[in-house]
Amino acid sequence: SMTDPLTGLPNRRAFETHFPQAQGLAERHHPVALVMLDIDHFKGVNDRFGHGVGDQVLLALAQSLKTLTRRADLAARLAGDEFAVLLTDLDTAGVQAWYTRLADHFVSELAAFGLDLQTGLSAGQTWLAGSSADTLNDALMRADRALYQAKARGRGQLALAADSENPAG
Ligand code: GH3
Ligand code: MG
Repeated sequence: SMTDPLTGLPNRRAFETHFPQAQGLAERHHPVALVMLDIDHFKGVNDRFGHGVGDQVLLALAQSLKTLTRRADLAARLAGDEFAVLLTDLDTAGVQAWYTRLADHFVSELAAFGLDLQTGLSAGQTWLAGSSADTLNDALMRADRALYQAKARGRGQLALAADSENPAG
């Protein structure tokens, strides 16, 4: 299957299947950002409010992603509270603005629960290098390291991988 049963988003396999297309765009000098997202303190939401509320929080993020991702882009649930997005033809400021809109949308969806969920969204970004030598695993590893930086810097923010260059300049 290519669909995550809980959220209806594409799953990791769908993300892997789509990736060569994004790589092709990067090879033709389109900037392609891979952004990895992870919900902050999600375990605490499950612990305090139960797994059912946790599932609703995952659905809220999926809804925010569906609202804020254009047709040409791909948003997938990779596993647990970890999601990945491919964004084409945005510069660094554009990716940052997209992340801010997504995080704001997610937090306002959560406000509808009327619970003090104390959560947010951290993100790690890398650029696809524009060469088939830059594999999905390489890109995911860079994005994951950037995500770790975002968590370490206090969560609720986007970090750009230090070892990542926009091939479009
Ligand atoms: P951090 O801010 O560092 O990300 O902390 P965290 O608590 O979010 O930690 P982590 O990302 O490691 O926690 C992921 C949790 O997601 C652990 C697991 O129980 C929960 N989880 C994974 N899949 C599901 C799911 O389908 N539904 C629910 N409700 N919880 C899930
Ligand atoms: Mg988390």
